[in-house]
Amino acid sequence: MELPNWKKLFVESNIPEKLAPLKELSKNLWWVWNTEARELFQSIDEEIWEECAHNPVVLLEKVSYQRFLELEEDKSFMARLDMVTGLLKKYLKDRSTLPAPQIAYFSMEYGLHDSLKIFSGGLGILAGDYLKEASDSKVNLIAVGLLYRYGYFKQTISIQGDQMANYEAEEFSKIMVQPAFDKEGNWVEVEVDFPGRTLTARVWEAKIGSVSLYLLDADYEANRDEDRFVTHHLYGGDNENRLKQEMLLGLGGIRALKKLGYQSDIYHCNEGHAAMIGLERIKDFMTDKQLSYAEAKEVVRASTLFTTHTPVPAGHDSFHQDMFRAYMEHFTGWLNIGWDEFVMLGKTNPAEDHFNMSYLAANLSQGTNGVSMLHGEVSKDILKHLYEGFLPEELNIGYVTNGVHYPTWAAKEWKELHLKYFGKDFVDNELDFDLWDKIYKVPDEEIWNLKKQLKLKLIDYIKHRFADSWIKRHENPKLISEVTNKLNPNALTIGFARRFATYKRAHLLFRNLDRLSRIVNNPEKPVQFIFAGKAHPADKAGQDLIKYIVEISKRPEFLGKILFVQNYDMNLAKMLLQGVDIWLNTPTRPLEASGTSGEKGVMNGTIHFSVLDGWWVEGYKENAGWALPLERTYDVQDFQDELDAETIYNIFEDEIIPAYYDRNEKGISEKWVSYVKNTIAQVAPNFTTSRMIRDYQERFYYPQAERTARLVANNFALAREMTIWKAKISKAWDAIEVKEIQITDGLTNVLRIGEEYPAKVVLDLKELSPEEVGLEMVITETNSTGEPLLVESLEFKVDQQEGTQCTYQLNLHLMDPGAYGYGLRIFPKNENLPHRQDFKLMNWI
Ligand SMILES: *Cc1c(COP(=O)(O)O)cnc(C)c1O
Repeated sequence: MELPNWKKLFVESNIPEKLAPLKELSKNLWWVWNTEARELFQSIDEEIWEECAHNPVVLLEKVSYQRFLELEEDKSFMARLDMVTGLLKKYLKDRSTLPAPQIAYFSMEYGLHDSLKIFSGGLGILAGDYLKEASDSKVNLIAVGLLYRYGYFKQTISIQGDQMANYEAEEFSKIMVQPAFDKEGNWVEVEVDFPGRTLTARVWEAKIGSVSLYLLDADYEANRDEDRFVTHHLYGGDNENRLKQEMLLGLGGIRALKKLGYQSDIYHCNEGHAAMIGLERIKDFMTDKQLSYAEAKEVVRASTLFTTHTPVPAGHDSFHQDMFRAYMEHFTGWLNIGWDEFVMLGKTNPAEDHFNMSYLAANLSQGTNGVSMLHGEVSKDILKHLYEGFLPEELNIGYVTNGVHYPTWAAKEWKELHLKYFGKDFVDNELDFDLWDKIYKVPDEEIWNLKKQLKLKLIDYIKHRFADSWIKRHENPKLISEVTNKLNPNALTIGFARRFATYKRAHLLFRNLDRLSRIVNNPEKPVQFIFAGKAHPADKAGQDLIKYIVEISKRPEFLGKILFVQNYDMNLAKMLLQGVDIWLNTPTRPLEASGTSGEKGVMNGTIHFSVLDGWWVEGYKENAGWALPLERTYDVQDFQDELDAETIYNIFEDEIIPAYYDRNEKGISEKWVSYVKNTIAQVAPNFTTSRMIRDYQERFYYPQAERTARLVANNFALAREMTIWKAKISKAWDAIEVKEIQITDGLTNVLRIGEEYPAKVVLDLKELSPEEVGLEMVITETNSTGEPLLVESLEFKVDQQEGTQCTYQLNLHLMDPGAYGYGLRIFPKNENLPHRQDFKLMNWI
């Protein structure tokens, strides 16, 4: 018998000529934050639009030819298509030339849209929002990341409450990426050396408005199987795979930009994962411009910014040095340095056996920043071992508080209201805080009804999504209908959704179940909680927590009152943040570096209730949210949890619930609306990505670009000069001798307030000049745990010089009573140093 001989046949979707602009529109992710464009796609076929999870590329493949022919004849559709295409065209034209400096941004993940599965949570969504904002704010920025075949998982919850992680392979033809070509029209590929072989990656491009995001992909024939795995999973595989990914992102990323013809001014390393960009760039300066290692490092540091996101030392990526050596030793040849010097780029002390990527990033960056004011301080403590001799407070580690992209996260309904009351040009003037203030002019009823409408939308959405998932896992139909019937669009609704890491303490609310039951089951003042979030597949504790909440949600007294909705993604986040009344966050202090979901809430009039941690330390205002205090009361976490849970119940019972149900004759809570207004006027404006990107420009990009330009001018003249100078100082430093120190009168250490005490120090500077050697007195107080805290540093003046001996003098003049400690130290001085830690040399004397 003849067997059938199957041959392949492809039927490509065929879009009529007149509708071709739809295809163009679908390829630029601009539609993600443009309401008109999204509504245009939706109107093609609402059902398919939902089915394909709002992915227009898939939508256009699935829609029937018949439907396209209909649309072609539909005058109103064609007019809207014309209008939206015009909007994008104008948007891109306004951004066709952008001013320097150009920023090259590197991140392991980007959360742009659910269909592009290259993110897992907060870090990625932040990076995605940032690219959108760069485009909106006309910042000259390009970005580099990895394109994962499986990306991050979709979450389903079993009937027992177990999290199941489903990874689905992505077909790259079905997402908004295209091959990236070089000038000759070749698909760009880059290579990275692995032990005994070469990893090859091809480069894809995603368009985000005017921003190009280049994504490296190793999963194709060029590589052997185990190397194709390198870009399969985000945060998957073992530590060795992570190293391979980070080599590809850092080394491969720079190689890709070079092949694409970019010469960026500033390199922004978002988290330590991409820190190897610095190594590759040093290598390039050495080979292409014949700089020495030290000279190249000067230029690379000046033009690199490192943003750290992690508040605990263990959260920073590191690799055992033996494994690291197997992959990276060849680099010492490029950099012309020995292994010991090379490996110290990722260590604070030769005895450490791990190479730390955050240390590498910090060592190769002039600027380092945390992601909120508090996290900036925490980061100083985490990175302080890199800067022995300095007090943590002195470290040049700044902060830029994270923000969120308004056009992505604000509900359409709010955007309309803002346009009506804040003015047509509001979208381009988010930083004009006076505009936000106009929220006080909006009638209470309009705001109350808007919130009500959004909550209704959320409850509808959840009912569908929830029922679907429960039916799929064969829950008892009676249970399902009971839950969906009990969900109440008029109840005070609280949202809690984020990654299920134990430090986020989702369990806190459940410490006293009787009390919680009383709160949610008050018939006059009902309350409901909606939970969502994924736990990392390796995080058993996080998964147990999900299971626990799912179990509680099935108890009779909590049915329909406590809900866990599976697969937290950007779309669910949007629905929740726009629809709930309160966003709750209960992290363990100070482990929330910034947090951003609450920021998405406040621009939607969703009131925030959180521990004073991360961004909320800066955001909280009285009558515009609720806060758990910043200071820890107990060192024992369990006591602290108990106290915090108690406080949360009290605040709900005494403040939140009464305020929400305090209704006037129209059924509106004026008090509540006033909180919403305060939230929008006083909190939201400061936590947009507009504000965030401006801060990055002013605090880092502009000053660093300016200094880099000075270093590289005239064939790197200043970079070379600084290198020579640093070498000279280093060589002569240890020879400096202290000849004499006179601080107080020598009889007593008690100073009287307001009086001046001349202090004098004589140094023999040997080969150095007094302009190059500074001397200062560092005055400290002791904190409760016995550590010195900086009060102030007072620099001595050079009084006289005889030969190589130099007298430094200072008039001590203290104004506040107290017991102080003081120390003296010498440090190298040069007006071209950006900050003290740029040249870490110094001595306490
Ligand atoms: C915003 C967002 C996050 C981050 O929220 P945090 O409050 O920073 O933890 C995570 N996941 C999704 C889907 C989000 O939209």
